[in-house]
Amino acid sequence: MSLQENISLRSHNTFGIDVKTKKLATVKNVNELKNILSNNLLPLCILGGGSNILFTKDFDGLIIKNELKGIQLINENDTEIYLKVASGEVWHEFVLFCIENNYCGIENLSLIPGSVGASPMQNIGAYGVEVKDFITEVEAMHLKSLKITYFSTNDCEFDYRSSIFKTKEKGNYFITSVTFRLNKQPNINTSYGAIQSELEAKGISNPTIKDVSDAVICIRESKLPNPKEIGN
Ligand SMILES: Cc1cc2nc3c(=O)[nH]c(=O)nc-3n(C[C@H](O)[C@H](O)[C@H](O)COP(=O)(O)OP(=O)(O)OC[C@H]3O[C@@H](n4cnc5c(N)ncnc54)[C@H](O)[C@@H]3O)c2cc1C
Repeated sequence: MSLQENISLRSHNTFGIDVKTKKLATVKNVNELKNILSNNLLPLCILGGGSNILFTKDFDGLIIKNELKGIQLINENDTEIYLKVASGEVWHEFVLFCIENNYCGIENLSLIPGSVGASPMQNIGAYGVEVKDFITEVEAMHLKSLKITYFSTNDCEFDYRSSIFKTKEKGNYFITSVTFRLNKQPNINTSYGAIQSELEAKGISNPTIKDVSDAVICIRESKLPNPKEIGN
């Protein structure tokens, strides 16, 4: 674990806002997370990719930057695969991993910025797909008791851009991993937004999940600047 003091958050939020935090701890595993939480008395902020957080002033507390990594195969059958994904994985990299391995379902969620751990927070969605339909379990550490709790899909109380982690349990948990159920057969969904016309323009009539992902990436890149180049 690295612990830095009086550090700029500029490279840790997609707006590129140059405020400082009193402490910044980068955690790479659950033991490090437990350790830093058990010794902390400061106000706390959990940070994933920093794409849905707006810092307006210096933070007089501890920011925990999530670097929990790893993708674990939990179970599979002829039609589905279950992957437990550490919450610090980058969302889009996970989507690309699924596409490479032909695990289907989340291709329409390509290029959404942020971490896997933040995806259940607001039930990320785009182009007719919501992540809740692929989540089977969320594992989270209670910030005070440090106990690990497992939330089923029902427990998560998913709603449009919302979940229990934004409502009843707001500020109570650090999401440590998310388990996804992906399909082995594609169920292509091109009905939303400009996906269909993007595919037609490329002369693709029978798209793969990679084609859909590429189309979504093209559309998104044409609409919004890359936050790495222009903060947004
Ligand atoms: C250009 C752009 C495009 C976007 N497009 C979409 C879109 O199409 N659809 C969509 O749904 N969203 C979209 N978003 C919003 C954003 O990408 C998502 O909300 C994303 O899930 C945020 O992830 P993050 O890791 O950056 O979260 P952060 O900004 O780091 O954190 C967001 C909130 O979640 C909390 N949090 C983060 N990780 C954890 C954790 N492990 N445990 C507990 N709490 C945690 C933080 O404390 C904070 O309150 C977009 C944002 C940008 C900038």
